[in-house]
Amino acid sequence: MKVTIYNENVHEKSDPNVRAVHPEGIHGTLAAIVRGEDTEVRTVTLDMPECGLTDEVLDDTDVLIWWGHMAHDKVPDEVVDRVQRHVLAGMGLIVLHSGHHSKIFRRMLGTTCNLKWRDGARERLWVIKPNHPIAEGVPETFALDCEEMYGEPFDIAEPDEVVLMGWFNGGEVFRSGCTWVRGNGRIFYLQPGHETNGAYHNEHIRRIIRNAVKWACPVNKNLPLICPCTEPLE
Ligand code: ZN
Repeated sequence: MKVTIYNENVHEKSDPNVRAVHPEGIHGTLAAIVRGEDTEVRTVTLDMPECGLTDEVLDDTDVLIWWGHMAHDKVPDEVVDRVQRHVLAGMGLIVLHSGHHSKIFRRMLGTTCNLKWRDGARERLWVIKPNHPIAEGVPETFALDCEEMYGEPFDIAEPDEVVLMGWFNGGEVFRSGCTWVRGNGRIFYLQPGHETNGAYHNEHIRRIIRNAVKWACPVNKNLPLICPCTEPLE
């Protein structure tokens, strides 16, 4: 499998608290989760030409992971068009945490993706689809001692599957792990991962991300979006 990780890499440059949690950047933390014997990882950032997301890179990507927060607007629309085209043709897309407001996630879902939020909460996650491939090896429930609360209503297109539900110590609930299919591409959204918290160091979150990469990996990539005319079958 070939995985590309996009991280805007903006918090890391100005906030020592983020660097303390992610010494190699959030992309570095995520790369260490996903990299493996059968998984090659490439990381790209906002400051690269075309955000590092050229056709050449996307042609060579099975699954794209997306982390962004402060600089969604800085991602050029042509890059969003290109990523969307590749998802529709079969590339998997995993959108993390504040990526809910990224241009690509809103484009794929067609909604505002607005939600409620409050930092400094305790979260309890529940696996509500225990037989889903993304939940393999994940306990029925586990807690994150410090995570940003994201609350409903979450203005997303109706998910195909809600794999994880989040509950917060303010009483709020959230659809924390959701799947969609768009064209030939599989999409997964995962809520935990605020930049100053340690969610990506939690073993269960790491497992969920690895499982999601496997789940989103296409069987056939670069499928045609428009089927050519054919002769009728005999
Ligand atoms: Zn956040």
